[in-house]
Amino acid sequence: MNNLENKIVTVQDYLNNAHATLANSSTAKFDAQLIIAYACDWTMAQLWARLSDPFPVNATELTENLLSRRQLGEPIAYILQKRDFWNFTLHVNSDTLIPRPETELLVETALTRLPKNGWLIDAGTGTGAIALALSTASPDCQVIALDKSWSALQVAHLNCQLVHSSVYLLRGHWLQSLKNECAEMIVSNPPYIAENDPHLLQGDVVFEPRSALVAGKTGLETYQEIIPEALRVLKFDGWLGVEHGINQQNAIEKIFIDLGFKNISLLKDLAGISRVIWGQKI
Ligand code: GLN
Repeated sequence: MNNLENKIVTVQDYLNNAHATLANSSTAKFDAQLIIAYACDWTMAQLWARLSDPFPVNATELTENLLSRRQLGEPIAYILQKRDFWNFTLHVNSDTLIPRPETELLVETALTRLPKNGWLIDAGTGTGAIALALSTASPDCQVIALDKSWSALQVAHLNCQLVHSSVYLLRGHWLQSLKNECAEMIVSNPPYIAENDPHLLQGDVVFEPRSALVAGKTGLETYQEIIPEALRVLKFDGWLGVEHGINQQNAIEKIFIDLGFKNISLLKDLAGISRVIWGQKI
């Protein structure tokens, strides 16, 4: 920001320069606004109201630091340590996947299948996004959020407090620690990217935990593990819903069919991409 030296710098000046600094990102303008509001500890409305005020000198160092992190490609959600999901704002950090809007499809379609009372399980909960959305929407159900990562469970724990909702946090590898026929519903957004997928080399995913993204050679390995386990853990008529990646629906539907699930449905996200599969245990 050398060209801002030796004159009074307004918030608007700073914003223009921050925008120019981030120019090679498609979200540069919005990111600059978010970073400045965050560094100044202002709401967006406070930012708009102060455009012609001098830029607060004590926020300069933090703003510059956050802008350079963004310039290096770090996701804005990690920089601000938060991301909106469903009807709340979740804490996120680099120990967890950043919740995606398309994952709300899994929540919406879970809500139409919810039992009146019962046990719901979110396998591989990460930030706790899905578990918390389900527990706030269905207070008569008990929700268990499982993850094998302690640091992800710490993030989920913080989010339980932020959202004022209680879910049982449990450490475990997928469903292995659960007893037979104990749950009415299981949901999961597991890692589903193949290990040599070129998408892993660009964008936000570069900064996200590999263990939350990569399933193995084909991208289907986690489904091969959790769908049979879900069959064991679900009660009769219990539902399993999983999110999946582009073009994985037929292979995953086949696993559901081969294991004898009934009422299988394939659902598309807002972009028209097959994204979620549900099946019911016979
Ligand atoms: N939806 C994420 C992506 O495409 C991947 C999340 C996952 O593997 N569950 O980047």
